[in-house]
Amino acid sequence: MATDPNADREVAPNFITQHIDQDLKAGRFDTVVTRFPPEPNGYLHIGHATAICLDFGVANDYQGETNLRFDDTNPTTEDPRFVDAIEQDVAWLGFSWKRKRFASDYFETLFGLAVRLIEMGDAYVDDRSLEEIRETRGTVTTPGVASAARDRSVEENLTLFHKMRAGEFPDGSHVLRAKIDLASPNMIMRDPVLYRIRRAHHYRTGDAWPIYPLYDFAHPLSDALEGVTHSLCTLEFENNREIYDWLVARLFDPPRPRQIEFARLNLAHTVVSKRQLLRLVEDGHVRGWDDPRMPTLAALRRRGIRPSAVREFARRVGITKTNASTPVELLDSAVRDDLNEVAPRTMAVLDPIPLRFEGPAPAATLEASLWPHDVPMEGSRSLSMGDRLWVERDDVAVDAPKGWKRLAPGAVVRLRHGPLVRCTDVEVRDDRVEGVTVEVVPEAEGKPQGVIHWVDHATGIPAVFHLVNPLFQDAQPDLSQPLGELINPDSLQVRSGFVEPYAAVQDADVRFQFERQGYFWKDPGAPEGDLVFVRIVTLKDGWQKRTRQVEPVRTQPKPKKTPQASDFVDRTPDMVASLTPEARKRFEALQAEGLDDADAVRLAGDDQLAGWVQDAVAAGLPAALAANWLLNELPRVQQGRPLGELAWDSGTFTNLLKLLHEDRVTAAAARQMLGVLVDDPQDPAVLMQDLGLEKLGDDAALKAWVTEVLAEHPDRVEAFKGGKTGLRGFFVGQVMQRSQGRADAKRVGELVDEALAS
Ligand code: ATP
Ligand code: MG
Repeated sequence: MATDPNADREVAPNFITQHIDQDLKAGRFDTVVTRFPPEPNGYLHIGHATAICLDFGVANDYQGETNLRFDDTNPTTEDPRFVDAIEQDVAWLGFSWKRKRFASDYFETLFGLAVRLIEMGDAYVDDRSLEEIRETRGTVTTPGVASAARDRSVEENLTLFHKMRAGEFPDGSHVLRAKIDLASPNMIMRDPVLYRIRRAHHYRTGDAWPIYPLYDFAHPLSDALEGVTHSLCTLEFENNREIYDWLVARLFDPPRPRQIEFARLNLAHTVVSKRQLLRLVEDGHVRGWDDPRMPTLAALRRRGIRPSAVREFARRVGITKTNASTPVELLDSAVRDDLNEVAPRTMAVLDPIPLRFEGPAPAATLEASLWPHDVPMEGSRSLSMGDRLWVERDDVAVDAPKGWKRLAPGAVVRLRHGPLVRCTDVEVRDDRVEGVTVEVVPEAEGKPQGVIHWVDHATGIPAVFHLVNPLFQDAQPDLSQPLGELINPDSLQVRSGFVEPYAAVQDADVRFQFERQGYFWKDPGAPEGDLVFVRIVTLKDGWQKRTRQVEPVRTQPKPKKTPQASDFVDRTPDMVASLTPEARKRFEALQAEGLDDADAVRLAGDDQLAGWVQDAVAAGLPAALAANWLLNELPRVQQGRPLGELAWDSGTFTNLLKLLHEDRVTAAAARQMLGVLVDDPQDPAVLMQDLGLEKLGDDAALKAWVTEVLAEHPDRVEAFKGGKTGLRGFFVGQVMQRSQGRADAKRVGELVDEALAS
């Protein structure tokens, strides 16, 4: 990798550090103070992690400091257990805060600041309800209507505000509003509400306060009270910046904090919203907040991802002003790079079948290195190889497809760390491979087609493997749909197999690479005494890819290329403005095809991408469909390679989309095909037939599966009828699984509904 000039910085230079540089140069501040302001109403997720890495990272880079401030102004949703969990998560990421504060620490001071505002004639008590305030706020084109209370005297306002605080008014009867401008083009500035009456028990201040400040009041003033210099928040607060500045300008002398906004992280195939995560937990779609499929930090930790990987991920995503979806591959590659040099290579067989030797068995104890030659680590373990081994069912075929590099009658392979063997027999029962027989081949007499991993039958240790896959089937799940229908039915696959003894006896915190299977560690949430390995990450991208594609045997280490966010999406903050004249023309042409600016600008930056969209349009396909597949689906299989390096061409792409557009395949099936086509271009229609992916048109098969699924789960049908309607998604998922993604989920849903209603 080229040397990174910013390697010593936690946060690569971006528009925020530019602001900071300017502020320091202009003497506005002589230090940098930031804060991370979580609301203690849920667990932190990977999106929060990027904000934490920014807040703490920037402060570290400038030798400044960061406060952890719990934004606990909403008494009804907060819970002290979240405070503890959040502290644990921030500390886990490796950051330490200068001060820990709560917005509720400032309730008394904030009250005093509100009194000052009233005294300055800048705030008044209104007796309108929140509802009435909303109704009289006007529209973008018409100004709001003033309440009679707006002209109250300072004395009258002070008396009323003190009465609010003393609890003399019922909830909702009065509010304190800033007196700004009822005709402001920014609706937030039309006399925003600063305090409301709410008799709610607060987990820290108890029943001391019948009134609570609103975020727009509490947040800027807490920043100013703490001496925060740069208050970094996500883009949805852009319009709130005006009230932020208005309040601190009135109540504080310089240096005053300034708010700078950045785009929030959205990660494909998952959700990063506390509310949606809560739904997943409460509706039982996952096994809790730390279910390894969740994007919470608690879950990433349990899955075995190290904090260094999360920080590296945040660094690679970077900071921008453009909302976009980040491909999961970017997280996965950061995790792989983080584990590569710490995870000893060992072997596990996840779907075992016996391998027997014909003739003399090698019967040996081998000394096998734990590290590949391109990792600068040393160490080995001894491996016994008896007269029977376990090998992977997938590694054995009866009729080997072209290019097969594993076991099949006649094929010669190497048993990893062991001898060459030739397959002499494959045992098949009910169309399933159940065993394999081999004979040892002298080194001089054979050339292996591939390398097979194995576990010794006599010494292997039984283990369970949890394979974690993306939680949602779609990159951008449509959350208006019931969650049960959106969840990837294969999001957690459970396998029973064997590990070599070395892996079983290592300490709980050791991460392994199980060769050809991925990185794993012992699930810290597994019941005491159970040997459960959870997969931290696969070895390569594309979980939906068919096994049809055979894995190359690496002879030489590949030059390491670290995928960066820019490989997937152009994230320059001012993308449109910075387009070259030619790119600008492409941008306008794409706009004219009806694409929105965000998509158009990402495509216009690359003449090939833009050209492919135009080719699809010329073939009669909607531009948005092509844009979506190029921007959101392709990166999943692209593995950081530019479009020009992939084997396929625009015609193959267009023909794939046609199948989808003509409804001949489902999106899930098209995704599988995409994984094959990029490296192995061919007629998508033929591939569809080869892989048996044609969409199931006839209801008969679907109905049969629905009946089958319901019959297999009488207890769940019972529970559904008893009101657990969330189970609908389970039934749909089961049918979809049977169809291998070939059925139309909506139609399946209808048939499930029909069957359950009868
Ligand atoms: P959610 O939408 O999940 O409820 P939130 O914004 O309400 O999140 P807070 O606890 O208020 O959660 O967030 C604390 C900080 O984290 C805020 O400054 C917020 O801007 C930032 N943050 C929240 N979600 C993301 C995200 N997806 N990407 C980057 N920063 C985020
Ligand atoms: Mg929030």
